[in-house]
Amino acid sequence: MKVLIIGSGMSGATAARLLADVGHSVMVLETREHAGGNCHDERLENGVRLHQYGPHLFHTSDEKVWNFLSRFTAWTEYRHRVVADTRLGRISIPYNLRTEQQVGRRLTDGEIRELIFVEYSAKQWGVPWEEMPAAITGRVPTRRENDDDGYFTDRFQGQPKEGYAALFSRMLEGIPIRLGMEKNAWRAEATESDLVIYTGKVDEYFGYCYGRLPYRSLRFEHTRTKERLPYAVINQCNALPWTRIYDHQWFSGENGNAGMLDTKAGTGHIAEDGSLPETIVTKEYPLAHDDTNDPYYPMPFGEGMALYQRYKALADQEPHTVFLGRLATYSYLDMWMAVAQAMVKLRA
Ligand SMILES: Cc1cc2nc3c(=O)[nH]c(=O)nc-3n(C[C@H](O)[C@H](O)[C@H](O)COP(=O)(O)OP(=O)(O)OC[C@H]3O[C@@H](n4cnc5c(N)ncnc54)[C@H](O)[C@@H]3O)c2cc1C
Repeated sequence: MKVLIIGSGMSGATAARLLADVGHSVMVLETREHAGGNCHDERLENGVRLHQYGPHLFHTSDEKVWNFLSRFTAWTEYRHRVVADTRLGRISIPYNLRTEQQVGRRLTDGEIRELIFVEYSAKQWGVPWEEMPAAITGRVPTRRENDDDGYFTDRFQGQPKEGYAALFSRMLEGIPIRLGMEKNAWRAEATESDLVIYTGKVDEYFGYCYGRLPYRSLRFEHTRTKERLPYAVINQCNALPWTRIYDHQWFSGENGNAGMLDTKAGTGHIAEDGSLPETIVTKEYPLAHDDTNDPYYPMPFGEGMALYQRYKALADQEPHTVFLGRLATYSYLDMWMAVAQAMVKLRA
């Protein structure tokens, strides 16, 4: 079968590999100048691996997904930890027994919500907390009764040892991919294909016939500096206009936690002479998506969800197209979920 895949992110690349492995003739089209979608990273000349579209930290409890991706990469033992700047100071999140020590007492659920989520979410989504659906508020664990300060609790965690770009290049080995395509170029190619796998925006697929779905975008303000952040990611749960600030050097090490800059253990970032190398520190500013920026986060609640349901009804009628991924299924998928969704939908 001749298969055309639109988009080379985690969804498109997984589909391409699975279908090529069972003998189909696969071609991938991509508008960007690189494969990998938002997971893409780039090794800069100063040695920093820049996560161009925001920090990507891999985690899953799905062994099938882990084994699949492990065909294309070895992993570091990176454990992601996040702190937040709040009006009670810098604290460990998700809220755990260490957080209690830092603030000096046990906070109620309401206090945790106020302190960590309300302002942050309003900035992230441009919507007041009270209007957030459980699908989003429920993603963030609010309280742990232990001192585990790891951000994820999944069985399998780590970063691709040679980065995401290398992982994607191995995943797509032997599969033709055309980069830098015009966004409608696939339409002509699709007529020659037996099956289309579409991972772009679902509203764009249908020519915005019902109007535009809302998405959130991001603006990344990168600074090249020798002033390392003491933590991989610091969320800004306050009135500052950026939601988080992060230091890319941490993401390729073993541990995204505090204090590691003082020791040589586990970081791999301190030069022989004890000096700290240059890094890239990024501030992330959320904003509404329009034609001048990228759609990073679908908003599958309220009017966004109602509009998506109308597009989904159209998508369900498309006989030769499978819709996959964050943009085409308008859902908040982590990397492992994008892989799992492709496996399930393609029955692989
Ligand atoms: C800031 C941020 C941080 C994240 N952090 C994490 C994390 O820490 N851990 C985690 O597990 N997940 C994380 N994610 C989620 C992760 O990025 C997604 O799970 C993953 O990228 C989904 O892959 P995808 O292929 O569905 O979508 P995408 O990565 O968006 O890929 C879609 C691709 O299709 C291309 N495309 C679109 N339209 C067309 C067209 N018309 N023609 C040709 N090509 C087209 C796009 O250019 C893009 O390359 C994060 C996401 C964001 C935005």
